[in-house]
Amino acid sequence: MEFEVRKRKLIEGLRRQGISERVLDAMKSVPRHLFVAESEKNSAYADYPLPIGCGQTISAPHMVAIMCDLLDIRNGMKVLEIGAGSGYHAAVMAKLAGSGHVYAVEIVGALAASARDNLKKAGITNVTVIDGDGSLGLSGYAPYDRISVACAAPEILDTLTGQLKTGGKLIIPVGRNYQQLYLVTKTNGLKKEIKGGVVFVPLVGKKGFSN
Ligand code: SAH
Repeated sequence: MEFEVRKRKLIEGLRRQGISERVLDAMKSVPRHLFVAESEKNSAYADYPLPIGCGQTISAPHMVAIMCDLLDIRNGMKVLEIGAGSGYHAAVMAKLAGSGHVYAVEIVGALAASARDNLKKAGITNVTVIDGDGSLGLSGYAPYDRISVACAAPEILDTLTGQLKTGGKLIIPVGRNYQQLYLVTKTNGLKKEIKGGVVFVPLVGKKGFSN
C-alpha cells in the first residue's frame, strides 16, 4: 500500500510536468518497485535514476515518461528498445503498445535475465528480452513502428533508421558525456528534431562507443 501512495505522488508530479494522461495511465499500471534492487525499493517511486547493477542505471521516471510521450506509442505497434536494463521502460512501452509487442535488446546477460524475471513478476507478457548487441538493431523482427534507445549513441545510427517503417519514429540520445535527445521521424527522408539535453550511460557494441 505504501508503494501505491508513493506511486500516486510520483504520477501527480509528472502530471504537473505536462506528461500526457495516456503515459501516466501506463506508468500507473507498472509496479516500478518490482524492477529495482531490494536495497533501492524505498526509492522506487522517487523521480531520479537508480543503480540496477553491472554499473548501469534505470532512468528517472520523468525521462521514461518524456521519451514515451515523444515516441507516441499506439495500440498494436511493434516497438524495439535498445538497452532493456531492468525492463521497466520496456514495461511502460508495452502497456502503451497494448495488443502490440516490445522487443528489448540487452548486451549484459545478467541484466537481460533479471529484466525477464522482473517483467514476469509484473505480469507483463508482451515484451521479449533478447540478449545481443542492439547497436546493430534487431533485424529478425524488423521493421518497427517505434525504436527507443536507452543509452547514449555516437550518432543517429543507420542500423536503427534502416529498421524503421516509413512513418516510424526513433528516439535516441546522441553524444558522449552529455547528449542531445533526438526524435527522428522517417518519411521520404529523416526528419531530425532535438528535444533537449540528457545524460545516459554509453551504448557499447559494434556501432557504439569503444570504451
Ligand atoms: N531502459 C532501462 C535502462 C537502460 S540503462 C530500464 O528501464 O531499466 C542502459 C542499458 O543499455 C544498460 O543496461 C546497458 O547494458 C545497455 N546497453 C549498452 N550498450 C548496449 C548495446 N550495444 N546493446 C544492448 N544494450 C546495451
